[in-house]
Amino acid sequence: MGLCDIQDIKTILARHGFRFSKSLGQNFLTEAWVPERIAEQCGVDETAGVVEVGPGMGCLTVELSKRAQQVVSIEIDRALFPVLNETLAGCDNVEVVEGDVLKTDLKALCEQKFGQKTVYACANLPYYITSPAISALLDSGAFAAITVMVQKEVAERICAPVGTGDSSAFSIYIQYHAKAEYLFDVPKDCFIPQPKVDSAVIRLTPLDAPAVQVENEALFFQIVRAAFNQRRKTLVNAMSTVFGSKFGKEQLTELVTYCGLDARVRGERLTLEDYAKLTNAACALMRAHGFA
Ligand code: SAM
Repeated sequence: MGLCDIQDIKTILARHGFRFSKSLGQNFLTEAWVPERIAEQCGVDETAGVVEVGPGMGCLTVELSKRAQQVVSIEIDRALFPVLNETLAGCDNVEVVEGDVLKTDLKALCEQKFGQKTVYACANLPYYITSPAISALLDSGAFAAITVMVQKEVAERICAPVGTGDSSAFSIYIQYHAKAEYLFDVPKDCFIPQPKVDSAVIRLTPLDAPAVQVENEALFFQIVRAAFNQRRKTLVNAMSTVFGSKFGKEQLTELVTYCGLDARVRGERLTLEDYAKLTNAACALMRAHGFA
C-alpha cells in the first residue's frame, strides 16, 4: 500500500466512503518524495515530539513517525478517522486527536502529550487557514521549529527580505518572531485533487528574542499594519491614521526624516530596523508631549 499512490489512495478512500471536502482544504499528496523531504527537513530526531496539523490519509504522519519519538496529529474531519486507523496501523508512536488547530490550546497540548520533550510542528496546511494557523503555531511558543507547506506565493512573501517591496505586514510579524527559510517548491500536480496553484515548504525557527527591540510592540505592529494597508500612500500619510489625533503631518514628516528616512518613502521599503527606530522615536515623541 502506497499512501502517495493515486490508485491506492482512491481504493482506500472509496472503501471508507470518503469524499474530499474543498472547504476543509483537502488536497492530499501523491508524490512520496514530498512528505519524505518535509519530514527530513523539519528538524525532528528520535528524541523529539511532533505536532502535525491535518494528517489527511497519513502520508506525512508515517514519515514523521519514522523519524521522531512521538507524533500527535490534529485532524478536524471525523470521516478520516477510520481511514487513519487503517493507514497508521503500524505506527505505535502516533496519536490522532480530533480537533480544530485554531481552537486548540497548543501549549497545553504539548505539555500534556510531550512533557519536557523538544517539540516541532509540521503540516501540509489547509490553505483556507494558512495565516491563522501559522500565527497559532508561532504564538503558542511551544515549538522548536514550524515546517509547513503553503501556497508558493504566500511562501515567497513570508520569506521575502523586509524592505524589498515583496513582503507584507504578515511577513514582518513572522520575521519579528522567527527566522523564515524557503525550503523547496511542490508543483500542483503532486496533489489529489489538484489545486489551482503551486505550493512551497517553509521552515520558521522562533527567535530567542524578537528580531528588533521595540519599546511598544502593539504600536510597532499598528504602524506596520497601517503602512501595508495603504501601500500606495506614503509612510507619513499612513502614519496619520495611527497618530492623526496626536500629531499633524509636519510632525510626522519630522519624525520620519529624524529616523533617516525620505519624507516620501512608502512603508513597503522599510526594514525591520527602520520600523523599530520609527516606533521608538514615536514613543519618545509621545512622552515628550505627555501622551504616554
Ligand atoms: N497531510 C495530508 C497530506 O499531505 O496529504 C493532508 C493535507 S490537506 C492539505 C489538509 C488536512 O487538514 C486535511 O486532512 C483536513 O481535513 C485537515 N484540516 C482542515 N482544517 C483543519 C483544522 N482547522 N484543524 C485541523 N485539521 C484541519
